[in-house]
Amino acid sequence: MGKAFYLETFGCQMNVVDSERIVDLLEGIGYAQVDAAEKADLVLLNTCSVRDKAERKVYGHLGRFKPIKDRRPELIIGVGGCVAQQEGEKMLETVPYLDLVFGTHNIHRLPELVLQAEEKRRGSVTDFLDRETRLNLFPHRSVRDNVTRFVTVMQGCDNFCSYCIVPYVRGREVSRPSGEIKAEIEGLVAQGVREVTLLGQNVNSYGLKEDGELSFAELLNEVNQVAGLERLRFATSHPKDMTDELINCFGRLDKLCKHIHLPVQSGSDRILELMNRGYTAADYLRKVEGLKSVCPEIRLTTDIIVGFPGETEDDFLATLEMVEMVRYADAFTFLYSPRSGTKAAELQDDQSSVLKQERFERLCALQNRIGEEIWQQDLDKVLPVLVEGESKQGDGQLFGRTTWNRIVNFVGEKELIGMTVPVKIVKVFRNSNLGELI
Ligand code: SAM
Ligand code: SF4
Repeated sequence: MGKAFYLETFGCQMNVVDSERIVDLLEGIGYAQVDAAEKADLVLLNTCSVRDKAERKVYGHLGRFKPIKDRRPELIIGVGGCVAQQEGEKMLETVPYLDLVFGTHNIHRLPELVLQAEEKRRGSVTDFLDRETRLNLFPHRSVRDNVTRFVTVMQGCDNFCSYCIVPYVRGREVSRPSGEIKAEIEGLVAQGVREVTLLGQNVNSYGLKEDGELSFAELLNEVNQVAGLERLRFATSHPKDMTDELINCFGRLDKLCKHIHLPVQSGSDRILELMNRGYTAADYLRKVEGLKSVCPEIRLTTDIIVGFPGETEDDFLATLEMVEMVRYADAFTFLYSPRSGTKAAELQDDQSSVLKQERFERLCALQNRIGEEIWQQDLDKVLPVLVEGESKQGDGQLFGRTTWNRIVNFVGEKELIGMTVPVKIVKVFRNSNLGELI
């Protein structure tokens, strides 16, 4: 009998990509993935520490596996990702039944840690690696029969937004050589991939710190020329690095989808400065105007933090005003949560949680209204949908996405997977559309 592993992934797309790498590495040492901890010889959590009481949650979550380990002491339990990076060796001390901890730069060492744990030796590796080593370790996409894939173009972040833990747990920014990225995408297309999303914490600072490297806009240009690729997306971009050259790509590049996720965080200049975001509300709006003028059909999504320390009613109203002006199709709204070690965690915060919650709900109500108005525009339209697979809805339904990254479910034959087909939108729900194949 082969060995089995169970993996749970939390957080952002970076962790999703890291988990793909974890799967490849574990399969390489004879483990097969299963869908429940009870069936596994190895249980791993790939963790996120961006918000909430992340560390406490991970410890709580690990507690669920203890009864299984009590029954089967040979079960190996491990933690990776951002909480692992932050807590390191301490986790082994706090959780006696934990066997291994691996940081964000050490995924490649997982097989070694697992083999060690099989011999009852516990281990933790959370060193940050130098640039050269990291460049050599960039995840290479293994074969999977997906229509759409993430391609990591850069890792880490040097922005140090005052609320954010990412630069501390993911390390400094490095960009992968453009030639390697293009070759990887050509390989993916040869395997049947039709859409790629270029991924990084701050993709539009791609190449800025590497001598002679392409700019992000030039990289998009190169990728747009890959024969057989149909669609191109990227995430996440920082408003301060949104150059005119990049804005113009939305008017020029035929494969670039008409959607951009452009986190604004706040509409108040005072709060933006305290956040160390490097732009004002007016700067942001100018970039949005630029995007809409080169590509009138473009739809924007964003991230917004409510309840940053010292946020006043006027600051909050400026955020609502921003939402009204931009008219986002969707927004990820977060209640500020202090992250220890960040600059903002030292700021005086005298707002009550009731007030923050009330603002949060006002923001969501506004965004829901605007989002609904935007998505309703699709009703009765026939839109090109790239078909990604069978829908979770069952009933012979497939699912795909519009250029705006909106999920559309519709009845169709499996042979359509991987093709772009015309679908008439017959119903608009909160998070997806129902369509009919034309
Ligand atoms: N690099 C991306 C960017 O700059 O937008 C995304 C980073 S983070 C993983 C995703 C979102 O989490 C951020 O855009 C921000 O809105 C939110 N976030 C980060 N730190 C937070 C905190 N301490 N409290 C609440 N929300 C936070
Ligand atoms: Fe965090 Fe700011 Fe970097 Fe995004 S750009 S990962 S919010 S520090």
